[in-house]
Amino acid sequence: MTDPARRPRVGVMGGTFDPIHHGHLVAASEVQGWFDLDEVLFVPTGQPYHKPDREVSPAEHRYLMTVIATAANPRFKVSRVDIDRDGPTYTIDTLRDLRAQRPEADLFFITGADALTDIFSWRDADDVFELAHFVGCTRPGSDMDPATLSAIPHERVTMLEVPALAISSTDCRQRQAEGQPIWYLVPDGVVQYITKHGLYAAEPGEK
Ligand code: ATP
Ligand code: MG
Repeated sequence: MTDPARRPRVGVMGGTFDPIHHGHLVAASEVQGWFDLDEVLFVPTGQPYHKPDREVSPAEHRYLMTVIATAANPRFKVSRVDIDRDGPTYTIDTLRDLRAQRPEADLFFITGADALTDIFSWRDADDVFELAHFVGCTRPGSDMDPATLSAIPHERVTMLEVPALAISSTDCRQRQAEGQPIWYLVPDGVVQYITKHGLYAAEPGEK
C-alpha cells in the first residue's frame, strides 16, 4: 500500500511533440512504473522565436495532439506552462513554474538520452538538477558519448533503458509529407488529427 506520508511523485516529460508518438508514451509509461510516479505531466514547449532549421507547428496543435494521445491514461496529464509563457522554452523555467505549482511534490524530469547530452551545456545546469531528479531514457541510435556519460552526476540522474522504439517526430513528419503511413507510430487519434488539419503536408516542389 502507498505510504500516506509519501510525497507525491510527479514526472515531467517536456518535448516539442510535433507530433507526439509512441516512443514518448512508452518512455513516460516506463518511468512512471519504475519510479512509481503518481502522475506524468507532458509539457509541450512554447513556440520558438525563430526556428533554426524548420517551422514548428503552432503550439495549440501540438498541445491538442498531446491531449488526445494521453487522454486514456489516468496518470497522464498535459501542462500548458510552457506554451502559455512567451518566448522559447528553457527547462529551468518549466521546472521553476511546476515547482511553484506543486511545492509538495518531488519532480522527475524525463528525457531521452540525446536530450540529456544538451543539458550539460545549459546555462543553469546546476540549478536544474536542484529542482528535479533526472531520468535519461536510452533510445536506439542515440548512444551517449563516453565523455558525456562520465560527466553525469549520478546522484541526480538515473539512466533507464526503455523498450527500443525507433520512432522520432522528424520521421513521422517526413512520412506524412511523403504520403507514407504513420499509423501505429502515433496514436490513432493523432493520425486523424494530423489528417484533419493537414499538418506536415509537403511544401510545393518538395515532394
Ligand atoms: P524531433 O525528431 O522533432 O526532434 P523527437 O522524436 O526527438 O522529435 P521531441 O519532442 O524532440 O521528439 O522529444 C521529447 C523528449 O522525448 C526528448 O527528451 C526526447 O529525447 C524523447 N524521445 C523522443 N523520441 C523518443 C523515443 N523513441 N524513445 C524514448 N524517448 C524519446
Ligand atoms: Mg528531438
